[in-house]
Amino acid sequence: MREARLHLQDHSIESLRACFSAQGIEPWRAEQVAGWLYGRGIADPSQWTDLPAALRERFTADWQWHALEWDGIQRSRDGTVKGRLRARDNALVESVLIPEGDRTTLCISTQVGCPLACSFCATGALGFTRNLTVAEIIDQVCRMREQLLPGQRLTNVVYMGMGEPLLNLPAVLDSARLLLHPKAFALGPRKVTVSTAGVVPKIAALLASVPVNLAVSLHAATDAVRDELVPLNRRFPLATLMDALRSLETVTPRRPIFFEYTLIDGVNDSPEDSRAVARLVRGLPSKLNLIPMNAHEDSRYRAPSDAVLTRFAGDLVRQGLTVTVRRPRGADIDAACGQLAARRAGGRPRSEPEASEVHLVEGAPTPAALLP
Ligand code: SAH
Repeated sequence: MREARLHLQDHSIESLRACFSAQGIEPWRAEQVAGWLYGRGIADPSQWTDLPAALRERFTADWQWHALEWDGIQRSRDGTVKGRLRARDNALVESVLIPEGDRTTLCISTQVGCPLACSFCATGALGFTRNLTVAEIIDQVCRMREQLLPGQRLTNVVYMGMGEPLLNLPAVLDSARLLLHPKAFALGPRKVTVSTAGVVPKIAALLASVPVNLAVSLHAATDAVRDELVPLNRRFPLATLMDALRSLETVTPRRPIFFEYTLIDGVNDSPEDSRAVARLVRGLPSKLNLIPMNAHEDSRYRAPSDAVLTRFAGDLVRQGLTVTVRRPRGADIDAACGQLAARRAGGRPRSEPEASEVHLVEGAPTPAALLP
């Protein structure tokens, strides 16, 4: 493959129009191309039958569509699929497909590693390598869609994989616009969620630019505990974060903020913690999603007992909060929240390899080292 070809997926539809114009291609072809590539999921221009043959040939010769190649794939017993994808510089990117009833949610990454170093997160332990490009964010969707089973349809996308989306805002915005665009992935605005650890100065810009759901990783209701768990809190403490959230005009009961709260044994799971959480979010249209800590080898933190989880959730409900508990999905393949830490095969001993069902999928070569 020739390098330095134009990468189709690096463009929003608007910038693709401009790019096509500059090359003497009719700008409206941008929508047509998006329809094939994203709408129908056909990446081979020779099959774009409503384009003139000469243009099809030109696209094949001059443009590239895939930013990511398969590096490995794992299927959990519960149907969750973790894809490991390789960028051109060999950086590894992980995405997770989570089927749940009629819904299939894809969790995508925005950075290689993450600079925020949250103390309970496996991605944080990797350190930061670089931002992903728009093409690398969008190609996770194209690639993972290849893994849908017959009858499954991608219904939701969450920016909750590796990295901090708001530290890669321009690429996140362009990719989200493609997810929402009726000619591209055509997802409804309530079907796309961007999660942040609390990069306060970027939150309003995100919501002013794209009508996505906002999720905020709260994890603690006091600065002392949050400083430990989410070091970014030292820059943007809780009062600053909550003021910023309260001043968002887009937040309404129909469009609440989704708080994530990773519950960690002995750290943030006491009755005082639940009272502090309730005080903190009172009056703000929100839903709180409790995530029992998913243990991994880079952290000493553990999930609390089910009894503590139930008590904590019950306390919050009694104080008027809307609470959900996120069941760990794909834990047997390290695909649950906070377990994404793409490393070269063999770089990390797997805790329970016998629990996972790992198998080859057509077109997705799995390195032998991934197999149990
Ligand atoms: N950087 C963004 C996107 C990551 S989203 C953010 O912080 O929101 C992933 C979610 O999983 C975040 O809420 C994160 O705090 C949480 N998480 C990370 N590690 C976890 C772990 N080991 N167990 C449970 N949740 C975890």
